Amino acid sequence: MAAVRKWKSESIGVVISVDYDRCEGIGKCVDVCPAGVYELVKGKTTAPNIDGCVQCCACVDACPKRAIKHSSCR
Ligand code: SF4
Repeated sequence: MAAVRKWKSESIGVVISVDYDRCEGIGKCVDVCPAGVYELVKGKTTAPNIDGCVQCCACVDACPKRAIKHSSCR
């Protein structure tokens, strides 16, 4: 069963999902996000600052493990 964690922003209507079976804490999402949405916690990514997301989709494209799904991105 996939260990998927979700973050939802009520203010901007965005949902970000991270599949923890795939995430290896490489941190590309932290590096590329222009809004500082992501933080690594214990070797896995989290999205505590989702309200600042500008929906650029860089995180989805940057993840070599394809662990991130974003409601505004393919
Ligand atoms: S879509 Fe862009 S702004 Fe939003 S979390 Fe991903 S990289 Fe950050």
